[in-house]
This record gives sequence, C-alpha cells and structure tokens, in this order.
Amino acid sequence: LKSPSPSSDKVIRVMQSNRRTDTIPEKKIRSALFKRGYRFRKDYLIKTVGTKCRPDVVFPRKKVAVFVDGCFWHGCPAHGTWPKSNADFWRVKIENTKKRDNDNDCSLRETGWMVVRIWEHEIPEEAADKIAEAVRISDG
Ligand SMILES: [Zn+2]
Repeated sequence: LKSPSPSSDKVIRVMQSNRRTDTIPEKKIRSALFKRGYRFRKDYLIKTVGTKCRPDVVFPRKKVAVFVDGCFWHGCPAHGTWPKSNADFWRVKIENTKKRDNDNDCSLRETGWMVVRIWEHEIPEEAADKIAEAVRISDG
C-alpha cells in the first residue's frame, strides 16, 4: 500500500493534523476535566495483554482510558468523509484504524479497563460529563 500524494487541501490539512501532539479537542477536554478537579495522565503508556497503547487521557488508578478520536481517521459516522481520489487507499487506512481501535478496546476491557471513546466533534463539556461518569462508576 503506497501513500498517494495528497489530492486536495482538505486532505493535506487532515494529514498535517495527524501528529502525535495534542489536538484542540483533546486540549479542551483535558482543561474541562482539570477545571472540575480531575487529575489524570496524558501520554501514559498502558501495557496489557494484547495491547500497548497511549490513550489521550488516563486515570491509572481508576483504570479508565479515554480516547479522543479524530472524525476523519477513525471514520466518524456523522462526518467521516471518504475521499474520492485514492479512495481505496483511504478506505483501507480508515478501516485499519477502526479495527485497531476495536482490538485495543477489547484488550483493555478484558484486563479490567474502562474505555471511553469521544469523537473530536463532541462538545468538550459533554465529553467531560461522560468521562466523569466513567470515573465515578469505575471500581478500579
Ligand atoms: Zn464527527
């Protein structure tokens, strides 16, 4: 599978935003949590049976892992767009990401983690509500 040259400004922008740095939605969600008094880790590596991953927000003692998923890369049903040029390349890429997400979720859950998935399009305060609820009910 060889990487096509970016075909449109939109694709270029999406590709550039696929960095290992914080995205704006991640930052907003972290600061919403922080303001509510939650303390958590970012860049925390979880090594468990079947997976090794770095969720965007981790509550290690509570065993709650939060992923903030980009609409494009993770194939959001509301606004994941499927680029028309190089369609096969992108389809495979996005499908692989979704499969990896799913594998990670399964391995984490099997080893006692609670997994929260947030779409980048979600309102940060609502995302924080979801995370707070997961932390509250987790028995970790
Ligand atoms: Zn979306």
